[in-house]
Parts: sequence; C-alpha cells; structure tokens
Amino acid sequence: MPTKKYVIANWKMNLSLSQSVSLAKKFKDKFAVFNQGEIIICPSTLALTEAVKVLKGSKIKLGAQNVFWEENGPYMGETSASMLAEAGCDYVILGHSERRRYLLENYEMIHKKVKAVLKTEKLTPIVCIGENFEERKTNRRDFVLVEQLQQALSGIDVFGGQQVIIAYEPTWAIGTGTAIEPAEAEYAHKIIKLALNDMFGMQAVSKNFKIIYGASIGAGNVKGFAKLENLDGLLVGGASLKADEFYKIANEITK
Ligand code: PEP
Repeated sequence: MPTKKYVIANWKMNLSLSQSVSLAKKFKDKFAVFNQGEIIICPSTLALTEAVKVLKGSKIKLGAQNVFWEENGPYMGETSASMLAEAGCDYVILGHSERRRYLLENYEMIHKKVKAVLKTEKLTPIVCIGENFEERKTNRRDFVLVEQLQQALSGIDVFGGQQVIIAYEPTWAIGTGTAIEPAEAEYAHKIIKLALNDMFGMQAVSKNFKIIYGASIGAGNVKGFAKLENLDGLLVGGASLKADEFYKIANEITK
C-alpha cells in the first residue's frame, strides 16, 4: 500500500517575518483542500509562532530549521526541542549541509540533536545526509552516506515508535537548479535503506523511517521523481518560496 508522502518547504533564512506570514497564508489557501500527503513548512525560528497562528485550521504542519540538544540553561541564542514543540512545531530539520558548513556542526552535535528531539516524543527529526562533490567524484558516496547515518543515529532508540525522516541531499546539487537523475536518487535511497536495516532491522525501518530527496527540485523536474519506489517525499528549498510552484511539486509527488 502506498504510504503518505512528505513534502517539506525549507524556507531557510530567506524571508522577513512579514514575508513569512504572507507566504504561510498563501500556502494555507493553496492547500485548503489538499489531502494527499503531509505538507510541512519550515520558516525561520523567528517566524514560527506567527506561522502557527496562520496555519490554525489547516492541515499544514510546522517544522523548525534547527534545535539545540540541551533542555535549557546558559546556551546563548539556542532553542530547545521542548521549546519548539511548545511553539507548535511537529518537525525539525537537523544536520543540513549549510549548518555543517557555516556553523561547523559536526557528527557529535547532530547525534546529540537527534537524541534530544526523539526524547521529547513530540517532534520528528528530518536528518539531512549527503555527499559533497569531491566525495562523489572519488566514488565515496555510498561510504559517506553510511558513515553519516551511523554517526547521527547509532545507539538511538526508535522502538517507542518515533518517526525519523532521512533527507538525502547531494550537497553539490543544492541550490543549483539541477537535480540529480532520479535513478541516482533511487540508488542512494536503497543504500540508505540497507544501512538502516543493518542498524535497526527491517521491521523497525519500514515502520519508523522515511527516506526523502532534496536538492534543486522544481515544478520542471519533479515528475521524474514521482514514480521512484524508495522515495517517501521531498525536501524543497528555493522552489518552496513560491506557493504556486511548491503546490505543483506537492501535487505531482503525492499523486
Ligand atoms: C535544501 O537546501 O534543503 C534544498 C532542498 O535546497 P534547494 O531545493 O534550493 O536545492
């Protein structure tokens, strides 16, 4: 039986508060009678509480772009998982390549974040993994994917039934306007699934894990991804800043 697809809008640091509110309203209107999948918007931390108000009465869910692993205390500028849950978030993106690159997030930090998020039992982590261009060129992609999964997830407990979404994002394709070939995404997703099966067992993986693709998806190339067997959805950056285009993407991938 086909499972529900996830379509996640990653707005990054692109919109002011008023622009975020206005785009959230457009999303609410566009998706007013959309029942085909799980639509999630991830505005800036600043815009989360306003977005919650806008989304009231709609099925669109809210996600954050980051979290800190401690519950509270002297951690300047950070936000904890329980704070995000209280603000109305159901999801949080972790380990995005832009945070690994600009904020120097390392394996240990991402691992701690995953654990903190699962501990709340209120938030679903969207864990981003993916190879860079150098790693791809030197045929190390598969190794890198397995390594990143193990570093982020080893020792975590999903047997309480918590969901984990793995977003495969070849970092060299992010923001370029050119996605990878769908067949390549399918292959990478199979590698991810095999690695997860090794770590958690097939039954837990089919129940608790979803694998989605992200990097330069747009209305023009989404069709090729719609029929992939091992694809549970999409993480969309640039194209999620336009409600019309994001709607087309969501509509196509959840058909
Ligand atoms: C991303 O960075 O998560 C992403 C999917 O970006 P884009 O769609 O702009 O490549």
